[in-house]
Amino acid sequence: MRAFTYQRAQSPAEAAAAAARTPGARFIAGGTNLLDLMKLEIETPQHLIDVNGLALDKIDAIAGGGLRIGALVRNTDLAADPRVRRDYAVLSRALLAGASAQLRNKATTAGNLLQRTRCPYFYDTNQPCNKRQPGSGCSAIGGYSRNHAILGASDSCIATHPSDMAVAMSLLDASVETIRPDGATRTIPIADFHRLPGNTPHVETALTPGELITAVTLPRPTGGVHIYRKVRDRASYAFALISVAAIVLPDGSGRVALGGVAHKPWRIPAADASMALGAQAVAGHLLATAKPSAESAFKVPLVQRTLASVLAEAKKG
Ligand SMILES: Cc1cc2nc3c(=O)[nH]c(=O)nc-3n(C[C@H](O)[C@H](O)[C@H](O)COP(=O)(O)OP(=O)(O)OC[C@H]3O[C@@H](n4cnc5c(N)ncnc54)[C@H](O)[C@@H]3O)c2cc1C
Ligand code: SF4
Repeated sequence: MRAFTYQRAQSPAEAAAAAARTPGARFIAGGTNLLDLMKLEIETPQHLIDVNGLALDKIDAIAGGGLRIGALVRNTDLAADPRVRRDYAVLSRALLAGASAQLRNKATTAGNLLQRTRCPYFYDTNQPCNKRQPGSGCSAIGGYSRNHAILGASDSCIATHPSDMAVAMSLLDASVETIRPDGATRTIPIADFHRLPGNTPHVETALTPGELITAVTLPRPTGGVHIYRKVRDRASYAFALISVAAIVLPDGSGRVALGGVAHKPWRIPAADASMALGAQAVAGHLLATAKPSAESAFKVPLVQRTLASVLAEAKKG
């Protein structure tokens, strides 16, 4: 690990200003992703700004309905919150499908959204990787690509986003609240938060330099049956091969999001609009632009079958 300097931020505004002022600075929350990347020298920040002392660890009700989840709320606490379990069960289930209890006790809401891909070439500094080193090439294209994207990928990168929580946040139409180094705040709809790789796969989100996430908000609950189904190589402590998050209302309408298939959670408005028509129609819209490799082609029928199973389960209530 490279040497770095360290400070504890006293306020969100101070943290954002310090990040903009200090070259090579990064925020650190639970550290469960960043510290691993630093040990492997994939990320080499010169300065760490510890945000754990900021009072961003509360879950508050929003007047008129909805929840405001502080950026530092731990994954364990978010999954266990009675309001989340009752009104946003898909979020609780997605969180509990991720990592291990020990990791969830440290992992934060903001850090989870910003965790980096699990593409093995990203972690191997001997291999070209456009995300780690822009312009060096993509080893996964034509290489080992079994767990890579089948949707929204580019000639520069076919990595997937690994977060389970982000898939549920996408399904719930969450918004990300931030503060910038000049003190200005803004709200980013989750659909615009993560980016597709294009020719800049190292630019993963809409955040600008020094911008700090302060909270994630959820709109009023939708009701309906909430399901998060994660398919993986072993029953626990593994990232998704694919996942399906769905909310189904009593009249058969609803919404659906996929994980493990793209550089960001995958939602298509036409798929939501066709929910009442059944799984085949929904899958047709979600997978319309799928371009798997020979190794990842199994994900197409896996999505189709998982979706059919999820919607059948939802019908039973
Ligand atoms: C073995 C293992 C298995 C795992 N399995 C799963 C899994 O199955 N599913 C899953 O979804 N996840 C899984 N994870 C990932 C885990 O959920 C993430 O590591 C965790 O959520 C990251 O949160 P953190 O607070 O520790 O982030 P950190 O490591 O502290 O930070 C991650 C990134 O977020 C930035 N950051 C942190 N807070 C802020 C903020 N407020 N504003 C702006 N930037 C910020 C940091 O600068 C850094 O770039 C696994 C991790 C491990 C190590
Ligand atoms: S898929 Fe993306 S992360 Fe993986 S090697 Fe290619 S550029 Fe790197």
